[in-house]
Amino acid sequence: MTKVLLVEDNEMNRDMLSRRLTRRGFEVVFAVDGQQGLDLAHSEKPDIILMDMSLPVIHGGEATRRLKSSEIRSVPVIGLTAHAMSGDREKAMEAGCDDYDTKPVEIERLIGKIAALLPKSTDDAGRECHG
Ligand code: MN
Repeated sequence: MTKVLLVEDNEMNRDMLSRRLTRRGFEVVFAVDGQQGLDLAHSEKPDIILMDMSLPVIHGGEATRRLKSSEIRSVPVIGLTAHAMSGDREKAMEAGCDDYDTKPVEIERLIGKIAALLPKSTDDAGRECHG
């Protein structure tokens, strides 16, 4: 099962997204701020990380930068932001995110991005909904 670490401080977004991902066959662990995100990224060994860019304690860009200079730099990170402005994409990619999406999240699009970043051999989660 693909394990997703969802780092999101907004409770409503966190609940909604984790429910949707769980329903598609992902295992979801979550963190509510950047520091907890870093801690769980190391202890939980997720297959992929969904990182809100706007987070308390350590913001998402800085948390991603630290992850990408650690021994788990190969774990893909998808940055999430509430702003569709073009500069946010650049900031997320500069911080080391492998991809980027805007909130509110379209679940099919997000799952497509997750699948694209996972090694094909372990890519079984979400397959049934790609139609
Ligand atoms: Mn936030």
